[in-house]
Amino acid sequence: MSAQSKTFPHPNPPPRAGEGDERAARQSPSLPPRAGEEPAPEALLIGGARRADGGGLERIEWMKIRQDFPILQRKVHGKPLVYLDSANTSQKPRQVIEAVDAFYREHNANVSRAVHQLGEEATALYEGARTRLAAFIGANHRDEIVLTSGTTMATNLVAYSYLLPRLKPGDAVLVTAMEHHADIVPWQLICKSTGAHLKVAPINEAGELIVDKFIEALTPEVKFAGVVHVSNVLGTVNPVKELARECRKRGIPLLVDGSQAAPHLPLDVKSIGCDFYCVTGHKMCGPTGTGALWARRELLEAMPPFFGGGEMIKTVSFEGTTFADSPRRFEAGTPNIAGFAGLVAAIDYLSGIGMANVAAREHELLEYATPRLQAIPGMRIFGSAPGKAAVVSFLVDGVHAHDLATLLDQEGVAVRSGHHCAHPLMQFYGVAATCRASLAFWNTEAEIDAFVDAIGRVRKLLA
Ligand code: PLP
Repeated sequence: MSAQSKTFPHPNPPPRAGEGDERAARQSPSLPPRAGEEPAPEALLIGGARRADGGGLERIEWMKIRQDFPILQRKVHGKPLVYLDSANTSQKPRQVIEAVDAFYREHNANVSRAVHQLGEEATALYEGARTRLAAFIGANHRDEIVLTSGTTMATNLVAYSYLLPRLKPGDAVLVTAMEHHADIVPWQLICKSTGAHLKVAPINEAGELIVDKFIEALTPEVKFAGVVHVSNVLGTVNPVKELARECRKRGIPLLVDGSQAAPHLPLDVKSIGCDFYCVTGHKMCGPTGTGALWARRELLEAMPPFFGGGEMIKTVSFEGTTFADSPRRFEAGTPNIAGFAGLVAAIDYLSGIGMANVAAREHELLEYATPRLQAIPGMRIFGSAPGKAAVVSFLVDGVHAHDLATLLDQEGVAVRSGHHCAHPLMQFYGVAATCRASLAFWNTEAEIDAFVDAIGRVRKLLA
């Protein structure tokens, strides 16, 4: 049976007016449900993804959790798959796959339009994703969550709805040198049409943001800042709380790109103190085409719609349109409903394991992998910030990143090669591309050994 219960109503129907905050808070994995209410996410999980007694890391049966991921059973080029590309997209546990399947088999309908039973069920699932996401990232209220197709959609929404009306010639947007293109290009487009410009806060060779320089760069012409929480290339975890505090002192809104943080760290946007936070579902065990923008409520309420169409209106006539309240006025058209049903299951799944446990296990795997990789002759690892996430970008002397990734694939090992949508970062290091191995909590030490051995064989082959 799937995490997505076979019996409807869905365990997480949308709250009625006024109950969103309280419900979101109660869905926090650390809080038990009240008697007679929906089960906590843990209770929805099937398989090994649970703590035996709410205890520590050693109590989690990671090998059992691994069995939740059907794709890990497959072979590639006749070899067992070693998937080290979770930063690109995560694999999906069967609870998520079954939730998507159950949506189409049992609940398929459009959202917010039909009064019939299936329409209500589909709406409950979709709105359930909003409630789950709010609890997962520590939002104050579910209405602070705009459901999007991912981070790219979220940053573009902020660029066009929030920033475009506010920027003037001479203004600036501050980013860091380690941003993903999703946190560069939307601001560049807006700068181009307003006469504003981009400023870049530098990093050091270890791949750490130079915080003093970031703060120094927060000059009066800066009207907005964007910072990645966890770098998809370096694994660096930026001190977003401190950066948010400095931005707030100067009245500069800060967007944090949490694409690589949400799958790996416990989150609390309230305590970070930023103004916008973006997540993307497909990196957090959920389906592609799902994600969210979190924004402080007063900011969302002041933002005009970006996309127009169905679902986002109150009234339409040929004389004019009135718009739905936020966040729905940003959700024009039919969304990826099945995807959001899957995202509910993904969040329940991760919450059931506990994000502190996920972070600790991935750290353990990184600690295992790093010295073994460093011992390979000619190995160059990019990014050595203390406390970095389990992402290792690397090059081996004399071997092109794409050749290395292609030959590793022949060994069953999936790593990404290329610029990782971070051209400026590649320029900083003076390389065109790197290979990147990104770990997830279900990876094993044996897989890391297989990966290291495979690099050794590739080196010999090319020698
Ligand atoms: N930001 C970071 C740091 C990422 O790693 C990614 C995806 O690789 C994105 C943004 C874009 O996410 P999506 O393509 O899911 O919108």
